[in-house]
Amino acid sequence: MIEFQAVTKRYDDGTVAVDHLDLTIEDGKITVFVGPSGCGKTTSLRMINRMIDATSGAILLDGKDIRAQHPADLRRGIGYVIQNAGLFPHRTVLDNVATVPMLLGARKAAARGRAAELLATVGLPAELGKRYPAQLSGGQQQRVGVARALAADPPVLLMDEPFSAVDPVVRDDLQDELLRLQSELGKTIVFVTHDIDEAIKLGDQVAVLRVGGRLAQYDTPAALLAK
Ligand code: ADP
Ligand code: ADP
Repeated sequence: MIEFQAVTKRYDDGTVAVDHLDLTIEDGKITVFVGPSGCGKTTSLRMINRMIDATSGAILLDGKDIRAQHPADLRRGIGYVIQNAGLFPHRTVLDNVATVPMLLGARKAAARGRAAELLATVGLPAELGKRYPAQLSGGQQQRVGVARALAADPPVLLMDEPFSAVDPVVRDDLQDELLRLQSELGKTIVFVTHDIDEAIKLGDQVAVLRVGGRLAQYDTPAALLAK
């Protein structure tokens, strides 16, 4: 469980990106932050893994203030996926994923075995493992990004507009895959998008933010649609 308690982020230039955000993100569910550009979605997400620290308020992970942990330790339990996958261009697809278990102490052969399993988990054919990221389509690169984020088996996965850069048909596929993956793996997923349809499709819970960083609504998609 991730609890935002009156979380405010004011940047150095005075911009209030997130304003007294109070909400609870439940385990094993997909919680979506949705709203127009500049409403504080990315800021909210990055406060969870401490890429950004809140100005005031607190974020608790499983009841503990995230500031009590070293950021590197915190991040071991939190995968992170961004829009353009952020893959290492000079490593093969397989090694992009295998790097994570190697950093965690696995030997090369074991790490590559684990990476191959993860590529299968996200629906990529094994032969693509030998390619470099630039030799994959955008949709395939996003799958690799998800595989890499899963490599440390983190209970929490943060996803920042992961499917925005791919065309609508591929996006639809990736959304379906994410729902399948979620039903198998039961991760706690926090997903940012500006697309309300995507939020409704993916979210167990949807947090609607408005510019200025205030929470407008926080409910299930069914309840939001009924309003
Ligand atoms: P979103 O993800 O919803 O588009 P962001 O969290 O990126 O919103 O940004 C929220 C607000 O904070 C915007 O007004 C943005 O311009 C501002 N902002 C983001 N990063 C910084 C920064 N480093 N310094 C100053 N203002 C920032
Ligand atoms: P998608 O619909 O998944 O986005 P694309 O239409 O971009 O796929 O690519 C179709 C096929 O061509 C994919 O199997 C992909 O692996 C392959 N492909 C795309 N770019 C390259 C490349 N630069 N080199 C080799 N194969 C590529």
